[in-house]
Amino acid sequence: MTKKFKNILANCPACGYELDFLPWDNGSPADEICSCCGIQFGYEDIYADTKDDFRKVYEEWRGQWLASGAKWFSSNTPPKGWNPKTQLQKYLNNKNKVLHIRSTTTPDIKKDN
Ligand SMILES: [Zn+2]
Repeated sequence: MTKKFKNILANCPACGYELDFLPWDNGSPADEICSCCGIQFGYEDIYADTKDDFRKVYEEWRGQWLASGAKWFSSNTPPKGWNPKTQLQKYLNNKNKVLHIRSTTTPDIKKDN
């Protein structure tokens, strides 16, 4: 199944993949799995509360994903030309990225910037 145009709602906070759902919305998790890195929102991050908690969960997941070779998770084929490193760099370099977490939709502004 190939969709030419995707409705991108958010990026996966762990791997940067473009998701067609919000990881969290109004305090409720999507219970969806990122096709790229396999993180499940509402499972791996269910005990996270503050923004720092969430960041920690996602950073740890990202570390494990990278350490295991940054493999495509889903049984569906990855998008044409998919490159996990480029995808992640693009996400990490995006200063306007938004973190969709439990409490609210918070602009992901780093304190040390
Ligand atoms: Zn992901």
